[in-house]
This record gives sequence, C-alpha cells and structure tokens, in this order.
Amino acid sequence: MAQSTPESPTPKSALPMPKGRDLSGLKLCARCIYDETVKGITFDERGICVYCQTVENLQKEYATGTPEGEARFMQIVDDIKRAGKGKKYDCIVGVSGGTDSSYMLLKAIEWGLRPLAVHYDNTWNTAIATENIRKVLKKLNVDLYTHVCANKEADDIIRAFFKASVPDLDCATDIALAETLYRGAAKHGVQYVLEGHSFMAEGLSPLGTIYMDGKYIESVHKMFGTMPMKTYPNMKFAEFMKWTLRYRIKKIRPLWFIDYSKDAAKKRLKAELDWQDYGGHHLENRITAFHHAYYNPIKFGFDNRNTVLSASVRSGVLTREQALEEYKTAPYMEDGLVEYFMKRLGLSEDEFVRILRQPNKSYRDYPTYKKRFERLRPFFYVLAKAHLVPMSFYIKYTSKKEI
Ligand SMILES: [Zn+2]
Repeated sequence: MAQSTPESPTPKSALPMPKGRDLSGLKLCARCIYDETVKGITFDERGICVYCQTVENLQKEYATGTPEGEARFMQIVDDIKRAGKGKKYDCIVGVSGGTDSSYMLLKAIEWGLRPLAVHYDNTWNTAIATENIRKVLKKLNVDLYTHVCANKEADDIIRAFFKASVPDLDCATDIALAETLYRGAAKHGVQYVLEGHSFMAEGLSPLGTIYMDGKYIESVHKMFGTMPMKTYPNMKFAEFMKWTLRYRIKKIRPLWFIDYSKDAAKKRLKAELDWQDYGGHHLENRITAFHHAYYNPIKFGFDNRNTVLSASVRSGVLTREQALEEYKTAPYMEDGLVEYFMKRLGLSEDEFVRILRQPNKSYRDYPTYKKRFERLRPFFYVLAKAHLVPMSFYIKYTSKKEI
C-alpha cells in the first residue's frame, strides 16, 4: 500500500488508530468475555459477571426462545391486532437498514400485523442502509414515516458531544429515534411500537459506556452547540410522560420472547428482500461506526465489540476462545471515516486531536434526568411491567448502582 509507506507525502499515521484487544492477564467473567475493567462490572461467587446475571434473569422472566415465551408473545400480537382494529396501521416498527429492524418488519408482516415503518434520518446513513430501507419497504409493501433533522443541526449536536469529551457521542440519534417513533404512533393513533432489540444477540451495554436522556442532550448542546435546535426531535421528560401516560404507547421487544438467530435473519433478508449486509453491528450509519470503531477505543479505551462478542458466547454462537481471538483483531473501519468525521464537523486535524486528548468526562459531569429516574424507580417498575417503557430502561436508568 503506497499510501502508508514512510515516503508518502500525506501519511495517515499522524492520527492514532484503534488496535485489537488482548485480555490475557485480566480477570474475566467465567461465562462471557467481559473483563474487570468493564464499567460497573462485579462478579458473583461463581465468577459470573453482573451482565451475564442480568441476561440470565431476563431470559427467565421473558421465557426467551421457549414455547412459553412464544405463546406469551403471540398473546401480545392478539392484543396489538385488537387495539388496531379499524385503523390503517396497528404497530410501528423503527427501521435503520440494519439486520434487527429489517427482520422485525419481515416478522411483523408474518404475524399478520399492519406495521408503519418509522425512520429517523440523522443524515449520516451509509448508501447501503438507505438502499436496504428502500428495498425492504418496497418488497413488503410497507409505508414509511420519516423525520429528517437538518444536517447542520444534527452535526452541531454531535460536535457538542465531541467537545464535551463524553463517551455518548451519538446518543442524540437514539433519543431522536425514540421521539420519532412516538410521533409516528401518535399521528396515526397506533398503540404499539415494536423494537428489534435482542439482549441475547446484542447483550446489554454498560450504562458507563452509553448514557442518554433529553436533558443531557439539551445541557451539552447549550454548553457546546452553536445554533438553535429547531428540527431535532428531542424528548424531554414532559414528552416522555405524555407518550407513556396520556397516549399509553407501548414498547414491545419481540426478540426478548422468541428465538432469534442473527445469522439466520441475515440469510432470510438477503434471500427474500435483496437486503445487503454492511459488515458489522451498528455499522450501517457513519457516525455510529465512527463512535464504536474509533472514538470509544481511542479516547476512552473501551471497545464495545465485547458486548456483542459476550452475547455471542452466552448464546453459543461463538466459543469463548473464538470471541477472545476476534477481539484481538483491530475493529473494522471504513477507509477515510475519521477524515470524513473531521471534514463534516469542520474540525482541523489539530483541533480534532486536541479535543480527543482533553480529559475524559461522563454524563455525571452534566445536568441529566438520572437522579429523577432514580427517585422514580418504583413508578418506572410499574411502567416497565405494563410495557410502557423497556425493562432495560428500568434496570439501567433507575438504579443507583451503575450497571
Ligand atoms: Zn459475563
């Protein structure tokens, strides 16, 4: 590769690049590949980490992948159909062009539901993701509700989080997606949102590696943003309560109940919907890819691939040894991704490196709703039991202990 030789006039090596992880010498969970340096980790007397224990408890609670889990989910499908009678749509499915959400749409049709697809466009989509959304919707004959944030505004929020030196670089996308799903549901009088999350396939990310709430976005943006938030669909506490208590929009995660194999899902999507693989978890969007493959490893020293690798070990897709070997390889990154990030955000390389080297901060350094979530823990338990907020929200956001 001529570009990387020392004689090259424009060597890329000026920027630090992420490497693979060798975990030898560290205390590891007896079951997955989470090690002692993972945020919030504790081990029980069996040497099993708190994340494996949480997954084990969820598996029991939702009877995941068992006939009982399937039966319980089919009951929910009946409820969805009943609530949707006489309406054009009976459920909302968020789509990103990725595996889980595309598969969710395919399954919704199979279950005899009438979904409306909802997409939040943060304007960092890869061409593959955009094409995937188009193909899947066309083949399944599903309508789309979409919200596009002005790209200057989306970039201003991302730049603000970059300047804030927190690990949650891209959390504005997740909050905006949640708000857009609710808006789409409310607009069409739909009572149910289906989410493609699977704790078996994806694991649970430690709160210390990704935190998000509407107040956090507002406060970081106030401090570091440069333009008003006009098209960005933030979800403040009042909106959150409006959607859950007044509209009573439920969030259902089918893959918490039913058996799910990501590989099998990909095969079906390719064969039946001409869907294209984009090469890794969260890589369908450029900012998400930059966040996971570059920003977190370089600035915070954590490589979130261990969450999916650990999930793969728990569910028997990989052996522990295979997962540890894969973790040793450098994270996959699209060529020129870091340069693209700098260019889009108008950062010179010097400025980029200077911000990257600033002392690390976390959501605890900025105003958020975290304390309020903790105070309202019993209330959120009731909401989670009624499917009005995800159970993982209750577990992670309302606990005083960070997990
Ligand atoms: Zn574990």
